[in-house]
Amino acid sequence: MIQKAEQLLQQYYGFSSFRPGQEQAIRQVLESENTLAVMPTGGGKSLCYQIPGLTLPGTAIIISPLISLMKDQVDALNSYGIAATYINSSLSIQEQRQRISDMENGSYQFVYVAPERFDSSHFMSVVKSIDLSLIAFDEAHCISQWGHDFRPSYRSIVPTLKQIPDLPVLMALTATATQEVIKDIQALIDVPDHSVVNTGFARENLSFRVIKGRDKRDFVQEYLKSRPDEAGIIYTATRKDADQLQQFLSKKGYSTGKYHAGMTEDQRKQVQMDFVQDELTTIIATNAFGMGIDKSNVRFVIHYSMPMNIESYYQEAGRAGRDGEPGDCILLFSSQDIHLQRFLIDQSPAEDKKKEEYAKLQSMVNYCHTHTCLQQYILEYFNNPFPTEPCGKCSNCTYEGIEQDMTREAQMV
Ligand code: ADP
Ligand code: MG
Repeated sequence: MIQKAEQLLQQYYGFSSFRPGQEQAIRQVLESENTLAVMPTGGGKSLCYQIPGLTLPGTAIIISPLISLMKDQVDALNSYGIAATYINSSLSIQEQRQRISDMENGSYQFVYVAPERFDSSHFMSVVKSIDLSLIAFDEAHCISQWGHDFRPSYRSIVPTLKQIPDLPVLMALTATATQEVIKDIQALIDVPDHSVVNTGFARENLSFRVIKGRDKRDFVQEYLKSRPDEAGIIYTATRKDADQLQQFLSKKGYSTGKYHAGMTEDQRKQVQMDFVQDELTTIIATNAFGMGIDKSNVRFVIHYSMPMNIESYYQEAGRAGRDGEPGDCILLFSSQDIHLQRFLIDQSPAEDKKKEEYAKLQSMVNYCHTHTCLQQYILEYFNNPFPTEPCGKCSNCTYEGIEQDMTREAQMV
């Protein structure tokens, strides 16, 4: 069957070879082994369930936490001529009914749904009655309380699924799983140790830089000048910073968009659409931006100030280079950033978590001051399963950061 998989890779997607981990994950699923695939963002997790879904008879159900990602995935599959659909609350009730009834008739090879869909007894009765090829949990870290984005509905469907008489092979996929999360997912969906495919978190195409002691606005302006027409995101810590930076840049003649929770939903939707469709190259945003945006050609992500922890940083910076082409991840550090993040933790109501949050903030501050390879620092923070080599291109590997560290700014901290 794996030959068939290779043939499908060529035929539908036009790719000549598998990426690390894909072949093993696909082989296991084809052999009905429940599988957990941990691969970096952009590593090609979708193919790991799509190729088995094309190979095995029946309908594949993909559980996804994000409505916007469902549509992108379905559009891509449809463009290859594959019968796929999504059923979620963005559709009218009538349209949802129609698609469920088509699903009942076996019209789809792939159906994308949010976890809440399994609360519907009608949907469950359809699921129980049809032939299923597999059930996949995309963004499977959401299943775990230990994950950074826990969704109770993700976890509570597992017992519901187990009521399905001919339960097909189960698959879980994520880019961000710590050992605790991996163990948790394994226990929940019965994945034996040898069926965990873990290629680690390394994103070889990303170059990390920490810049200290420079005027941030000047830096951004110069950077944008050197990278015209390239898509990028600039993350600010506050809405006010986003507003001010955008105003500054537009005065300087740069066309930029902005995105934060202080804007209306329509405004935000518009900016997001312009960005995804390449009509707007640079977006200035708070961390409200990015979840569920599947734009593969983002060439740079600049953090205008230091985020609260490495988890957030790596997730946001990781939106660069999802197509595998080079991506720049730049963090502009100043000592005020520490005060701001400390203040935000102080303000948060979750008393019991504060100690942990401070410890995470400290690791983030250490990242900004380490003299060792930045990529290695991140990978070690996440307990990458493999030993890592210095990347050779981050600001520490190239000595850029170390020279800067001699500045007064750094000594102050
Ligand atoms: P993930 O879900 O792991 O973040 P995706 O499944 O969205 O990643 O894939 C990221 C990109 O890599 C997509 O553009 C996809 O077409 C491409 N891709 C996946 N597998 C391969 C492959 N074997 N060869 C070349 N490109 C691939
Ligand atoms: Mg994905």
